[in-house]
Amino acid sequence: MTHQFTSLSPDQKKELSENAQKIVATGKGILAADESTGTMGKRLQNINVENTEENRRCFRDLLFSSDPITSVGGVILFHETLYQKSDSGKLFPQVIKDKGIVVGIKVDKGTAGLSGTDGETTTQGLDGLSERCAQYKKDGCDFAKWRCVLKISENSPSALSIAENANVLARYASICQQNGLVPIVEPEILPDGTHDLQRCQYVTEKVLAAVYKALSDHHVYLEGTLLKPNMVTPGNACPKKFNPQEVAMATVSALRRTVPAAVPGICFLSGGQSEEEASIHLNAINQVPLHRPWKLTFSYGRALQASTLVAWKGKAENKAAAQEAFCTRAKINGLASKGEYKPSGSADQASTQSLFTKNYVY
Ligand code: 13P
Repeated sequence: MTHQFTSLSPDQKKELSENAQKIVATGKGILAADESTGTMGKRLQNINVENTEENRRCFRDLLFSSDPITSVGGVILFHETLYQKSDSGKLFPQVIKDKGIVVGIKVDKGTAGLSGTDGETTTQGLDGLSERCAQYKKDGCDFAKWRCVLKISENSPSALSIAENANVLARYASICQQNGLVPIVEPEILPDGTHDLQRCQYVTEKVLAAVYKALSDHHVYLEGTLLKPNMVTPGNACPKKFNPQEVAMATVSALRRTVPAAVPGICFLSGGQSEEEASIHLNAINQVPLHRPWKLTFSYGRALQASTLVAWKGKAENKAAAQEAFCTRAKINGLASKGEYKPSGSADQASTQSLFTKNYVY
């Protein structure tokens, strides 16, 4: 009925699966530091720091030169950062590699509206993607990220947005693998809305089932991929509260029903949860009494950087304190990825603050 022509050699497959496994090695996760210039501007504005190339470089330097960050297995960069240098004069990819961490790059070009839908989107960036991936590989990257966005409302996600986003993710994944990059497949379902936990679980299952069907259709080598999904949570405006065990059970149930065991790791985005909430949820997910054939870890942006930014405030004299805040958060998430985090109950204000932004653009 159907036939697959050879696409990846055994050596290419080996490299992809080894890199994927290295990123999600036990106790490790991903630092998502690939905020676009605009998004980074909003972060810096919150701490009254001007959005200049130098200030963005300074903050990223602070993150990447933190020590110890043994729980970080991969760092996702934005194009600009890949070609910047640390204070020591070394290019950032080299600084990161010297710590045994795998370098990744955001390759999508943002969302675009799908006309005829209730404000739904697809993600752009396939044009020239193969050439860009080849260049990024030469420049030190071994994995990539592409973010698709889905929304929950009465009429969404629509069948069109589910199919379109699944297909574009699969096409991106296939192009990455041809160029030696492990694709992080990210179908993010936004937390905006009044929906409850069950509705989010139902939608997450439908979206992930479509994504894995598309990945199969495109002959993507699953062992050389990582999934970056939302956790299954109630909408941010849902009046009913659910405890971490309920969130964890709904999340693991949705994943068990849809994600093949061949996928080495599932790295959650934080999606506007507070730092502490994102850690507690990840910990609970790793304590669910059901078989979990993949690594379940973090790929946090906001929930790994919020208290670091607050501690830094753009001042050189705060660098050490900011690095300590970052190392503490990274360590907590490393423990949570093994289900070993024991909250002390004395989390500070910055780490318990909600990081939710309406209709989040990355
Ligand atoms: P958050 O963890 O801030 O949701 O973002 C992670 C990310 O990389 C989104 O694409």
